[in-house]
Amino acid sequence: MRFAPSPTGHLHVGGARTALFNWLHARHHGGTFILRIEDTDRSRSTEENIDFIIEALTWLGLDWDEGPPAPAYRQTERTDLYRDHAARLLAAGRAYYCACPPDMLDAERKQAEAKKETYRYPGRCRDRGLTSGAIRLRIADEGETVVDDLINGRVVFDHHQLDDWILVRTDGTPTYNFCVVVDDVTMRITHVIRGNDHLSNTPKQILCYAALDYATPVFAHVSMILGADRSRLSKRHGAASVQAFRDQGVLPEAMVNYLARLGWSHGDQEIFTRDELVQLFDIEDVASSAAIFDQTKLSWLSQQYLKAMPGDRLAERVRPFIARAGVDGAVSDATLARIADTLKERASTLVELAEIGRFYFERPREYDAKASAKFFTRDGRERLGVLIERLSAVPDFDVATVERVYRELTDALGLKLVELAQLTRLAVTGRTASPPLFEVLSILGREETLARLGAARATAEAAA
Ligand code: GLU
Repeated sequence: MRFAPSPTGHLHVGGARTALFNWLHARHHGGTFILRIEDTDRSRSTEENIDFIIEALTWLGLDWDEGPPAPAYRQTERTDLYRDHAARLLAAGRAYYCACPPDMLDAERKQAEAKKETYRYPGRCRDRGLTSGAIRLRIADEGETVVDDLINGRVVFDHHQLDDWILVRTDGTPTYNFCVVVDDVTMRITHVIRGNDHLSNTPKQILCYAALDYATPVFAHVSMILGADRSRLSKRHGAASVQAFRDQGVLPEAMVNYLARLGWSHGDQEIFTRDELVQLFDIEDVASSAAIFDQTKLSWLSQQYLKAMPGDRLAERVRPFIARAGVDGAVSDATLARIADTLKERASTLVELAEIGRFYFERPREYDAKASAKFFTRDGRERLGVLIERLSAVPDFDVATVERVYRELTDALGLKLVELAQLTRLAVTGRTASPPLFEVLSILGREETLARLGAARATAEAAA
């Protein structure tokens, strides 16, 4: 199995799913998963994009058994192989040199286009015995080539749709399809799982395997991923690259789960551990119809994974997002784990988690206006005073102690717990919605809690 991205951009969601399906297939069958960089198109390939792809695959946890940084897994490092294979085909008479001038070919192509026909090179140079020029594969004029696809079934290509295609250009550079074939045979690829935008290349490639006397691999062409408007998923639809989702703070576990379910299913099950995916995945169960990218479902899955993740692991994941939100989150791992535990039910991404947790690190700059009118009254001010007094006196600031103070005070003041709780929430976070209050206060600690209650009292004083 191999994943063979062209490094012409970030890793697209469709590419990531292709990589995942290859990886799952390899892991399920105990095969080898190879990463190959298809950088023959030098004008569009960049080192930066190779790094992006490697980073994205690593983030998804799709580890490869063979591939970069080892040498010879980039097409630009494999030129000798292409040359040798072309020489073999020439020697066997299965390929030939063609010296047709480009403008002649162009004119013929234009003529065909004008008649709305597919252009076919007529094989003019087949038997001229030339010794230089472009190298073309000799194919039979009549007949058909069948792709027995694991996902799409039997797809038949009539040879009238094909022609003696170019393996090596006049300038000596190998063409894309030829590189793919030579790579797949020399890497001993048994299964080619790739996007169905490559299905039309497959008969050409099959003919080339045959010319080289190699057995053809098994093919599985995966459908495209579409946006809600049924056009191909792109940046226009919002995030379309793996990096974009990573930067939004989607957990990689959720992303893998989501991608696996795009076109593949196992009963009604939605959530799969990685081991389950490896165990259950079968490429033949992948649907041939296009998959629609569903952002709502990805968010839902992401939330499920956040919720299920223990605080200490979540803390590690969210720390960079806190920094990126411009928040000074200098707390210990243990405290951050407690913080994360109070927030994880309320967010569907790490970005959201960092945002809703901002109050832990920053004192309120302002208080919700409606709630201030309700709570920062003369009574409110007095209650804040009593709270400050009582909370200063408790020996510990653990959740149980803080809760006890509140319960005792509500009784003593003849109030409902919610009244004191909402007043405190407003004072401490600036708003009336927050994670469980006693947990929040205990995490903030005595000093910080008292400082915030004091600031709120001063505000209430000024307002009253
Ligand atoms: N390099 C091709 C792409 O990125 C994949 C070709 C293949 O898998 O055969 O679309």
